[in-house]
Amino acid sequence: MYEKSVAELARALDAGTVSAVELASEYLARIERFKGMNAFLDVRPEVTLAQARRADAMRAAGRATALTGVPVAHKDIFVTRDFASTAASRMLDGYMSPFDAAVVENMAAAGMVTLGKVNCDEFAMGSSNENSAYGRVANPWDGNAVPGGSSGGSAAAVAARLAPVATATDTGGSIREPAAFSGITGIKPTYGRASRWGMIAFASSLDQAGVMTQSAEDAALVFNAMLGFDPRDSTSVERAPEDYTRDLATPVAGLTIGVPREFFGKGLQPDVEAAVRAALAEYEKQGARLVDISLPNAELGIPVYYVIAPAECSSNLSRFDGVRYGHRAAHYDDLADMIKRSRAEGFGAEPKRRILIGTYVLSHGYYDAYYLKAQRVRRIIADEFQRAFRECDIIAGPVTTSVAFGFGEKAADPVSMYLSDLYTIPGSLAGLPGMSIPCGFGARNLPVGLQLTANYFEEAKLLGAAHRYQLATDWHRRMPAGIA
Ligand code: GLN
Repeated sequence: MYEKSVAELARALDAGTVSAVELASEYLARIERFKGMNAFLDVRPEVTLAQARRADAMRAAGRATALTGVPVAHKDIFVTRDFASTAASRMLDGYMSPFDAAVVENMAAAGMVTLGKVNCDEFAMGSSNENSAYGRVANPWDGNAVPGGSSGGSAAAVAARLAPVATATDTGGSIREPAAFSGITGIKPTYGRASRWGMIAFASSLDQAGVMTQSAEDAALVFNAMLGFDPRDSTSVERAPEDYTRDLATPVAGLTIGVPREFFGKGLQPDVEAAVRAALAEYEKQGARLVDISLPNAELGIPVYYVIAPAECSSNLSRFDGVRYGHRAAHYDDLADMIKRSRAEGFGAEPKRRILIGTYVLSHGYYDAYYLKAQRVRRIIADEFQRAFRECDIIAGPVTTSVAFGFGEKAADPVSMYLSDLYTIPGSLAGLPGMSIPCGFGARNLPVGLQLTANYFEEAKLLGAAHRYQLATDWHRRMPAGIA
């Protein structure tokens, strides 16, 4: 059953051709078999199987939802009561949360079964999963290539069919970029759609939860269970529940697709450009109209993001002081020394680099020059998207400049690593819903992603447009050779 999509698994569970326990067992066996990929950080078969038995009981009692018994893997950024929650940091080694994150809670309430926690970059900071304190994750398409980051474990798990769906988070591209590198579908909703309650904070004004799946249809089904207003998150948007599958049957004929010319400039590799252009041609063939649009300040996204995200993380990560929870140094002289040593030992290089940058840009004398200016440019970028959406329904382009790069290729140069999110960060700064869908293969036969971005709260339209493409193509059905 492991090759099946969420929609197919849900039908099989409904028809009684497979039980939740059988499904969970099959995936647990695969997770064990592909341990070397390092996608999973915590697996507890007894917990998973107990949840699966509960799902089967829900079905027997006639209380099943569409997703009861469908397995899910959670990014280790969401806290969970029954699995350790580490954010892939030594700082939280073995940490057991007293509660489940809202997203985890919502999916459990629908009867979904947790397979375990998946690897990511430490505190979701990175683009290759090489910043995990628990080791890198292999790209299922090529063991020497990165799966992307920060949600590298989520992407690899879905690409290798170790889970039909995985939760993920996107602050500047961490769902779309790994989805593109790993040849799967990934979507982040509008900022405020998914509750951040119980999501270990990186940059609060940007962090948003989403999913990695095989297809847009699957993501729509999962969004129905996962998203919704949560009074415990002050930035959660209060809107009536929606059916995210409602536009799956809507043809794209008549849809206007904006193609930002700035996303096809210098740096974009020809293999990625060719696959993306072919995908745009497919939309045209289906009756969509392509229009040239401009996001003139999108290129400022990276410098703006690398002021705002570190500023927010320096504040969010100040809670890890060795006093309340998290790592505490074994030896110290006094309180100040204890805090210093605990933080020095607990955080890896990337969080430390960002805490330093963040503290600097927020300090007296630099706040106006960097932080305030970055906020102003952030607004300009968001406004440019609004101008663009007056001319089009959806914006389409590449997710990344290249296919997945090799391990170590960018690890020594933070700036070249930061550039991995050139095309995803502008949408994150604006808080827009965005996704990546597989659209072909490039160099070294590695997958290429097509990025689709819609206006606020238009996830259903976005998923519909992605689904129409997936009905006509089979890129999203292709699987890495080594996982059968
Ligand atoms: N790669 C970006 C960063 O390192 C984005 C990470 C994310 O979206 N969580 O910050």
